Amino acid sequence: MPGVVERLLSYRQLSPASLEAAGVLIGERRENHVVIHAISEPGPGDVRTRFTVVRKGPHHQAMINELYLKSGGTMNYLGEWHTHPERFPVPSNTDKSGWQKEIVFTEPMVLIIVGQSAMWCGKKVGRATKALQAY
Ligand SMILES: [Zn+2]
Repeated sequence: MPGVVERLLSYRQLSPASLEAAGVLIGERRENHVVIHAISEPGPGDVRTRFTVVRKGPHHQAMINELYLKSGGTMNYLGEWHTHPERFPVPSNTDKSGWQKEIVFTEPMVLIIVGQSAMWCGKKVGRATKALQAY
């Protein structure tokens, strides 16, 4: 949804001082489509540096739970996003190994990296991660 893209773009690491940011993607599955309605954003408990970010804050899971309940179960966790301090982001080895360990679901999951000039979007199906489109 447009509001989600706007929020993601607001975390671009455009200044040398800006830290990596991360959160989860929340939305609904409609047959073959995935609609991302909301994202969680950096908050207390997260560990952020220029080149790393760890989503440790309890607010990420709390937001998933809240939207799941409010929507009567149609909204759920769809994947994750984080930023990179590079113009055209590509997944790092840390990203790839993290996704293998942490993003383990039977349904396809969405992965987004927000760079300075473009976003990298991927889909994880089983163990395979495939780039969807950069724009
Ligand atoms: Zn990364």
